[in-house]
Amino acid sequence: MDKFEQMMQMMSQMTEEERMKAMEANKALCTCPGCPTYNECAQKKGELFYCAMGASPTCITEELGCICPACPITEKMGLTHEYFCVKGTEREQRGM
Ligand code: SF4
Ligand code: SF4
Repeated sequence: MDKFEQMMQMMSQMTEEERMKAMEANKALCTCPGCPTYNECAQKKGELFYCAMGASPTCITEELGCICPACPITEKMGLTHEYFCVKGTEREQRGM
């Protein structure tokens, strides 16, 4: 089991309230607004935290560089993918 799988297991054992709090805390660390791929449309809609929330529904379609590998969430959650705004969550990209 790799780090991401361990983190998912840990979160599955949390109460709904604990999980929501952990998600909010992680969302606050998202560095997407500083990324070249992030755009005004995504900003206006308040989109963030694509690695957990899923791809941008309509705002982001072009891959212009991804700074996810340098985001603290990548290290904290053991993410192994990137371009979550276009390709979907870590779970989706793993086929989980
Ligand atoms: S890994 Fe990427 S999508 Fe996930 S919180 Fe960090 S910057 Fe945002
Ligand atoms: S998911 Fe990656 S490519 Fe998309 S906006 Fe966030 S940092 Fe940029």
